[in-house]
Amino acid sequence: MSTYNRNNMLRPIKKLYIGLLTVIVIGLLIPQHLKMPVKGATKADYNPKSFWYFPWGKSVTHKGVDIFASKGTAIKASTTGLVLYTGKIDRGGNVALILGPKWRLHYYAHMAELKTSALSFVTKESTVGTVGTSGNANGKSPHLHYSIVTLIPYVWRIDADKQGWKKMFYLNPVKYLEH
Ligand SMILES: [Zn+2]
Repeated sequence: MSTYNRNNMLRPIKKLYIGLLTVIVIGLLIPQHLKMPVKGATKADYNPKSFWYFPWGKSVTHKGVDIFASKGTAIKASTTGLVLYTGKIDRGGNVALILGPKWRLHYYAHMAELKTSALSFVTKESTVGTVGTSGNANGKSPHLHYSIVTLIPYVWRIDADKQGWKKMFYLNPVKYLEH
């Protein structure tokens, strides 16, 4: 095969590659200003030290923050995004997984009711669900378990804590809620 032909064949692949890179970079550049997802909640409604709390049952460490509110309180999306999944799972109960800016996943768990569905676009005005005790929050005070997971690993965040390597994926939501 001549060099000329090979270049012609590679051109669409190169185009696809550049296209993908562009999408990834744009995703990274979209600003993220998080909104408190539980309507009316303040700093007083969560423990700022709950992230990576140990021991935490089957999860070993607590990879998010629990925001307490009365059952049925509206949960709004903390950021604009695309809903990837909604459904009922064992530990999380009624959950929603939303892809937001910077290739971060936003996870909402223990909801009483789900008010969105997969493949919906959400804004900070959209209601995701309501606060509840579904999944392994059964019998506890109603709260939203909220986690942020980066799809792009932040390897420099790994530390010597229990499961510290997982900190390249799980970000501390408290840092983003308090600003
Ligand atoms: Zn939790």
